[in-house]
Amino acid sequence: MPIYEFRCAVCGQLFEKLCPMGETGENIACPNCGKPGPRRVMSSFCAHGKKSDNGGSDLGGGGGGGCAGCSSTSCATCGH
Ligand SMILES: [Zn+2]
Repeated sequence: MPIYEFRCAVCGQLFEKLCPMGETGENIACPNCGKPGPRRVMSSFCAHGKKSDNGGSDLGGGGGGGCAGCSSTSCATCGH
């Protein structure tokens, strides 16, 4: 599973969480204030070079490494 970065809209807390591919933050609560639904922040290491961004639908979802924009095994942009 990828690690996504989230920012709480209420208190501004920035945190990382290991969550299922395509997680948008709806099922996550802020560790600081407990408010659900933080905003997802794209990690800087893979924010560029994406072919398309259609709302974070799952690409693959298999095992191993890979970032949100990778097809699990080969990604030229982040090296996974
Ligand atoms: Zn918060």
